[in-house]
Amino acid sequence: MTSKSDRVIVIGAGPVGLCLSLALAQADVQVTLIEQLGEHNFLDQVPRAGTNHPATLDMFDRIGLYERIAPRGIIAPVFHYWDRARGELVAAFDHIHLKDDTRFPYVLQCERIKIIEEALVMAKAHPNIDVRMATTFTSFEQSADGVVAHVADEAGANEAIAGAYLVSGEGARSIVRKDLDIAFEGFTYPDRTLNIEVAYDFRRHGYAERNYISDPDEWSNLFHWKGPPDRWRVHFPTKPEDDEQALQRPEALQARLQAFLPKPGDYEICGSNLYTVHQRVAQKFRVGRAILAGDSAHVNSPIGAMGMNSGVHDAFNLADKLIRILRKEVGEEVLDRYERQRRHVAVQHTQAETMRNKRVLAEKDPAVRKKNHDQLRRTAEDPKLARAFLLRSSLIESLREAEQIA
Ligand SMILES: Cc1cc2nc3c(=O)[nH]c(=O)nc-3n(C[C@H](O)[C@H](O)[C@H](O)COP(=O)(O)OP(=O)(O)OC[C@H]3O[C@@H](n4cnc5c(N)ncnc54)[C@H](O)[C@@H]3O)c2cc1C
Repeated sequence: MTSKSDRVIVIGAGPVGLCLSLALAQADVQVTLIEQLGEHNFLDQVPRAGTNHPATLDMFDRIGLYERIAPRGIIAPVFHYWDRARGELVAAFDHIHLKDDTRFPYVLQCERIKIIEEALVMAKAHPNIDVRMATTFTSFEQSADGVVAHVADEAGANEAIAGAYLVSGEGARSIVRKDLDIAFEGFTYPDRTLNIEVAYDFRRHGYAERNYISDPDEWSNLFHWKGPPDRWRVHFPTKPEDDEQALQRPEALQARLQAFLPKPGDYEICGSNLYTVHQRVAQKFRVGRAILAGDSAHVNSPIGAMGMNSGVHDAFNLADKLIRILRKEVGEEVLDRYERQRRHVAVQHTQAETMRNKRVLAEKDPAVRKKNHDQLRRTAEDPKLARAFLLRSSLIESLREAEQIA
């Protein structure tokens, strides 16, 4: 099998596949983007990511995506840590401390679904991107010269698409990763997280647009999304033995919300779902001409909002390298650097931070809880410490560290 094509085949029109496709196409690289969902169900995806960190906004801006999503999101410079057991605000972190580090000293609360909707419009309009919706990637093969991706359309018609490189932006269940027999190292938490979407303005109780709430029995996260109607997302832990349906009965959802914040009358619940949380990193991010990016390479707990953000950072790192390879400015060995850089970030930043975040929120020992809260309070109150904390929580430090990796 040989292929002299310079085309990059990207599997998956998630945030990672779309950002990669746009960055490549804008540098004159021909891209084929394969997405299994069709026009009719592309926007029917369960709620997932939504907090976009400063460095990610900078990358969105580079491809012209920021100006499309900013009006659909909420600019949130401040986030909170709360102690639910004491009903008290522990610390408020203000991204203004990053004003000399980024053009975007805030996060943008804008859901994944809005991001991919806008990015897909851009991808379809770009002459260098061949977008194949309702097309499922099934397998691939590669040689020293190229790759061939096998896909099937809705009617079951098969096609073989030739290219120079294949990038898996397929998400956690990546066929490419499994076909390459790459171990997905890590673990899965035994308990699932319950997500409730509710139309109620929690700001009237002092909450910020983005809140991490510790509690020895029931930690939670609380995030605001722009409507209409304006919605808040509340995450709660569940027990491994809990019944899925019982957890999501309307009266059970109301009871949970009322226990979290009692109020007269029912909450207006817009939806709910349960999700399983994994902490895993692929042992390799690349074999030959097949490369993993985003959730296909690493998955983590959403506490800290790092999965999509770090996946988008993979996409831009990889785009820069593929562009230079295809222009023959550098050799393929730069793809090994991609793996060294982005695997380091996945293990040392994304995994480490999100696991630490969960531990802090779920801590049961009163002495450790007090120590954690005192430390957060001190950090938020000292501008130097607050900046260092925010550089890490917003993944800017991860990008700076990756730059130092040869
Ligand atoms: C509740 C929740 C909240 C989260 N919040 C945040 C947050 O605030 N910030 C953050 O950074 N991250 C967050 N995350 C993580 C984030 O959602 C993921 O990291 C991100 O969506 C990964 O993007 P991706 O493009 O790699 O994969 P996905 O978003 O999973 O996209 C993969 C795409 O590939 C397509 N596909 C899959 N298989 C095939 C195939 N065989 N053929 C063709 N197409 C295929 C899928 O249909 C999909 O469109 C959250 C996750 C959850 C569960």
